[in-house]
Amino acid sequence: MEKIKMQTPLVEMDGDEMTRILWAKIKEILILPYVDLKTEYYDLGLVNRDRTDDGVTVESALAAKKYGVAVKCATITPNVQRMSEYRLKQMWKSPNGTIRRILDGTVFRAPILCKGIRSYVPGWTKPIALARHAYGDVYSAVECLADKGEKVYLVTEKDGKEVSRTLVHDFKDGAGVVQGMHNLDDSIRSFAHSCFRYALDSRMPMMFATKDTISKVYDGRFKQIFAEVFAEYERAFDEKGIDYQYTLIDDAVARVMRSQGGMLWACKNYDGDVMSDMVATAYGSLGMMTSVLVSPDGKYEFEAAHGTVTRHYYKYLKGEETSTNSVATIFAWTGALKKRGELDGIAELVTFAERLEHAAIRTIEEGEMTGDLLSLFEREGVMPRKLNSEEFLRAIAKRL
Ligand code: NAP
Ligand code: MG
Repeated sequence: MEKIKMQTPLVEMDGDEMTRILWAKIKEILILPYVDLKTEYYDLGLVNRDRTDDGVTVESALAAKKYGVAVKCATITPNVQRMSEYRLKQMWKSPNGTIRRILDGTVFRAPILCKGIRSYVPGWTKPIALARHAYGDVYSAVECLADKGEKVYLVTEKDGKEVSRTLVHDFKDGAGVVQGMHNLDDSIRSFAHSCFRYALDSRMPMMFATKDTISKVYDGRFKQIFAEVFAEYERAFDEKGIDYQYTLIDDAVARVMRSQGGMLWACKNYDGDVMSDMVATAYGSLGMMTSVLVSPDGKYEFEAAHGTVTRHYYKYLKGEETSTNSVATIFAWTGALKKRGELDGIAELVTFAERLEHAAIRTIEEGEMTGDLLSLFEREGVMPRKLNSEEFLRAIAKRL
């Protein structure tokens, strides 16, 4: 076949360890034979981040801002142990954090479902996508102890003058604890825009929940801003036949449990922290969870939700066989190619990406999979078989 042509480059962010190995193999086996791939390449591997004083991370994020679509490989977030392993100049910050700050985006996670791999919640037959607001609340709160006899106030000031003073608590009967937290209208608004865009893109109904019956001002502000922003999207939602529902967080949990899935669940920071682990676990393997960062002005960065799979990489370095699941990384590529195709009006690119996704899913459904899925797989008439990392990619290529 003649290779599919691209117009605008994809921003390609390479990464670390086992996922870096898979990255090159995915391109070689599943993409380059069919697509005249145009990318602007940034090496976010830890060695190069250290060499460039992390400048490469910032440059790649600015490129994502410029071109609108990026695909990212998993990267190491340095800790003390990595400092000595890679002899780093500095404990560089998480690249994902840096990119998210520059794009001001929200991260959406969604599972990839296959026949034969059942959710721990049997009713969830469709994916639940989850968005977590990643700014403020308890994550940037200040706290203190209060002694018996102390009074604690919430005080606001402007130009050195006190504007308001609200008693938090009079600790006259005994000591206790206090916490002060905040959020920003702009951050909440950006979050709302990203969520409504994602719901439209993926044609999923959306739910957002807080506890505004108790927290009338704080959570009430979230509710109000979401309602204001939704007014801009209401028509588009109607046209796509999806709805947006605001509810209370406890009601949301009950609804999600009873549902078949097939929705976007937008969560405040803490709710998202807790619920994303629950939802991800319910759907099985980390190797089947995708992640996309969406900015409020419609820029996209696609990646797998898992890390660099270090344990498998050390096996690989020793020359041992690995069976690492590449599905989420493949879907990062297809997500990015599809988005690029949509934005540039290249239908063949969109179709190609969809076919690659189907081929990957069919491979598993027909019983050829990596080790992480083996014990989860149960399908009548299909005997599951464990393939190594490269065999799995070749099994997908055969179907593609
Ligand atoms: P991880 O790489 O996600 O791996 C944790 C374990 O989950 C693996 O050891 C493996 O279990 C299983 N697993 C994850 N992905 C898999 C896949 N594709 N196929 C098969 N099994 C898979 O998390 P981590 O070990 O905590 O972190 C490793 C490095 O990744 C760290 O340096 C961290 O900073 C980085 N990280 C990066 C990102 C990102 O860039 N978005 C996200 C998270 C972590 P078994 O060993 O039992 O097979
Ligand atoms: Mg968590």
